Amino acid sequence: MTGFASTTAAQNLARKLNEAGIRDHRVLEAVARTPREIFLDGALAHKAYENTALPIGQGQTISQPYIVARMTELVMQINPQKVLEIGTGSGYQAAILARLVPQLCTVERIKSLQIQARQRLKRLDLHNVAFKYGDGWQGWANKAPYDAIIVTAAAATLPPVLTQQLALGGRLVIPVGEAQQSLLLITRTEQGVQQEVVEAVRFVPLVNGELA
Ligand code: SAH
Repeated sequence: MTGFASTTAAQNLARKLNEAGIRDHRVLEAVARTPREIFLDGALAHKAYENTALPIGQGQTISQPYIVARMTELVMQINPQKVLEIGTGSGYQAAILARLVPQLCTVERIKSLQIQARQRLKRLDLHNVAFKYGDGWQGWANKAPYDAIIVTAAAATLPPVLTQQLALGGRLVIPVGEAQQSLLLITRTEQGVQQEVVEAVRFVPLVNGELA
């Protein structure tokens, strides 16, 4: 257990996510062990265990816990060894993943968010995470291929580089669209890529190009 006072609150959140349809016990356990309030500003900490997205500064948001759990569940179905996250943000999704996979790589284009996220993961004793300050539209080529890639911002169109950085059999979970967004599950197969729509979602945009 984490030793944080909020352990019970995190356990309650995990129970709520289970009721909302999250079935993977590994994912629920990771949620139950992760204090979400340390990923928020003090003024918002009292809302940490509500199942909602919340502001984290710089116009960005920490994703809704349900969607964090859902995306994690989709990649955990293939027991990935190496995972890439695009959009480190607060670091909450990264912390959940870091508890579940041996190796996590995460890319963020806003330096101040990256610095805070790195400190939070260190505080939770999670040391299996490599951080990159850069444009996630380009993935992270040096460390490819990945068994799974999670994108936590909505892409206007599917970035082609990301499917190229997937291992064979690997999964890409990505929200695509602008006003209307769909969470897509893309699998790289010998024949090419398969695509499946998971559900309607709402994310901040994945910026294409310049760094903040
Ligand atoms: N996974 C985060 C969600 C943060 S919101 C969490 O758990 O808190 C999405 C994040 O994606 C923001 O921090 C935003 O700055 C980042 N982002 C947007 N476009 C990006 C890009 N092209 N490359 C890297 N990060 C990007």
